[in-house]
Amino acid sequence: MDIWGDDRVSKGTLSTRDKQKLYLNAKKRCENCRKKIDFADMEVGHRNKTYSLGARTTLANSLCLCHGCNKKQGTDSWETFQKKQGKQDPKTIMKKSLQALSITQLKTLAQKHEVTVEGKLVYDSFETRRQAPTKSQYINKLVSVVKEKELSSV
Ligand SMILES: [Zn+2]
Repeated sequence: MDIWGDDRVSKGTLSTRDKQKLYLNAKKRCENCRKKIDFADMEVGHRNKTYSLGARTTLANSLCLCHGCNKKQGTDSWETFQKKQGKQDPKTIMKKSLQALSITQLKTLAQKHEVTVEGKLVYDSFETRRQAPTKSQYINKLVSVVKEKELSSV
């Protein structure tokens, strides 16, 4: 090995052995669209930064992709790429969208879906009262019933 170590040779490309490992780890499928691909057609994608931004290509930072998906990913990180394709957990996305609404808007949605959201019971010396439901109580109940397109109509 020379003084440059592996850095110079491995930057931007994996060794054939690593490529084979990557291919087998991915079960011979594109890790994005799950399409079965031939080893010869496999393209090495990146999980984090692109090579052009100075990231090293290591097995751990690589993805087994088909040509189409590699092209689609472009310079995005794997996470961004997945998000752009809407592959994030739909519940997480919905929760975020609901959090952006006001309590009045949440109330409207709850009524529309006939979802009852009850606040906590509070006991004081004279009576038992029910507190107004909190935002997160609304969100927890609404997250599985509300559809994305309804959010723009409230
Ligand atoms: Zn693909």
